Amino acid sequence: MKIAVAKGDGIGPEIMDAVLKIFEANKVPLEYELVEMGKWVFDKGFSNGMTPEAQHTIENLGILFKGPMETPKGKGVKSVNVTARKTWNTYANKRVFQTLHGVDTVFSKAGIPIDITVVRENIEDTYGGIEHMLTHDVALSRRFITRPGSLQVIKYAFEMAKKKGTRRITCGHKANIMKITDGLFLECFYEVAKEYPDLKADDVIVDDLCMKLVTRPDAFDVVVLTNLQGDIVSDLCAGLVGGLGFAPSANIGDHICIFEAVHGTAPDIAGKNIANPTALLLSGIAMLRHLGLMENAAIIENSLLYTLEQGTRTGDFGDKNKTALNTTQFSEAIIGNFGKKPEQGVKELLPNMPVTQTVFKLEKNPMMISKEMENEKIVGVDMFIESAEQPDVIAKKCQRHAGVKFNLINISNRGTQVWPTGSIYTNLVNQYNVRFESLDGSALNQQDVLGLYVSLSGDFKICSSELLNMWGDKRAYSLAQGQ
Ligand code: NAD
Repeated sequence: MKIAVAKGDGIGPEIMDAVLKIFEANKVPLEYELVEMGKWVFDKGFSNGMTPEAQHTIENLGILFKGPMETPKGKGVKSVNVTARKTWNTYANKRVFQTLHGVDTVFSKAGIPIDITVVRENIEDTYGGIEHMLTHDVALSRRFITRPGSLQVIKYAFEMAKKKGTRRITCGHKANIMKITDGLFLECFYEVAKEYPDLKADDVIVDDLCMKLVTRPDAFDVVVLTNLQGDIVSDLCAGLVGGLGFAPSANIGDHICIFEAVHGTAPDIAGKNIANPTALLLSGIAMLRHLGLMENAAIIENSLLYTLEQGTRTGDFGDKNKTALNTTQFSEAIIGNFGKKPEQGVKELLPNMPVTQTVFKLEKNPMMISKEMENEKIVGVDMFIESAEQPDVIAKKCQRHAGVKFNLINISNRGTQVWPTGSIYTNLVNQYNVRFESLDGSALNQQDVLGLYVSLSGDFKICSSELLNMWGDKRAYSLAQGQ
């Protein structure tokens, strides 16, 4: 069985070599094909951070085991880590945070066990990186949350939770504020929950979730979140179990999966052979299980847990009175402990299983549609205009352009209504949202909107616009604060 390996930048090659040495010593039946990805590939002129050969190899093999990779700063290029996850639709980012005996934390000292799996949506959200400067003062990020994308990751989380024998699955969100985007994610969560009546499914607002995670981490099992919130919450969970050195991650897709540590390239310690390889090793162990190599996974994990229990450590954790090992010595200690079992959390030796093949040739890009739209009508448009004038001046101008089809409904600035009512204490920036709706709620067509666009552009620069849709009697757009 062959997998693709990218060693990465910074501490990447050091920790990857350490992990592959452990695999080799355990006779893990895998072959590795090294692929070119990372900062040095950007530097060679490949704008997505990987060579076409690397892409071809990964798409043929289906599994990528990768070290952390640096995104060159200030060059306008996108992170190769995010590009890889998005290009191959590894929609679920699974991160497991468990108390490790020997890695002391405030919770382990208090006898509070932690076993939290964070499933983070991996493709959408602000990680689309679709951003524009609307004026010299105003930046806009588009946040995509889709129904099929949300269903994909949430179904994965429920299925995984069921297999794991979880008590509870929790959706973290901010649907009280982002009613349409996070509201859609939450709606999908409860839609999927109906198919799993034996699992206790609930939701917590993400800020409250953070507070609860640091006060009662043992109350949570599986937590599923959108991309950015999931990223932040999972680093918080890494802190609960001893830091980034202990946080593995699997990016799961239907065809291609990527296994990597949560941490980055640690430029401050790169090249010194002192990095902690545990997070990458735990990611590798998860990969072995994913591939059905249960016995190898259990032997290596038992040995890692035993090694940690003995107080063996790299410089980033553990009892400072004990000498810290370097990366190579730490991996050699794990190899030396093969066959030994930890006092706590011992893994059962299950036989290796046949590999389930997931890579197969696709004829075209999969199109995901989860719901056909019916009964849709355009009832208005939001025009985002550049102006440094006062709201009542803008309103007078806009009313002239409304014509016989549109009503000027309201004007808002940074999401707060400033006309027809508002407060003189609301600070303004030079970019307004002017909302027009059809005169009597009747249906408009795109030509009507274009007519308004042309007319309004005589007075203002229109930075962007959004149609206001009704689906039956459901409004498919948000109201301004104060509207
Ligand atoms: P980082 O995770 O690299 O480092 C944060 C801190 O944790 C540093 O003090 C570092 O020394 C320490 N640390 C991290 N991993 C460690 C390990 N295995 N052993 C011991 N200490 C460790 O985060 P950063 O400094 O914000 O990012 C550095 C670079 O990594 C950036 O270019 C960033 O884009 C990239 N990055 C890549 C990934 C990825 O490849 N998936 C993830 C995060 C960051």
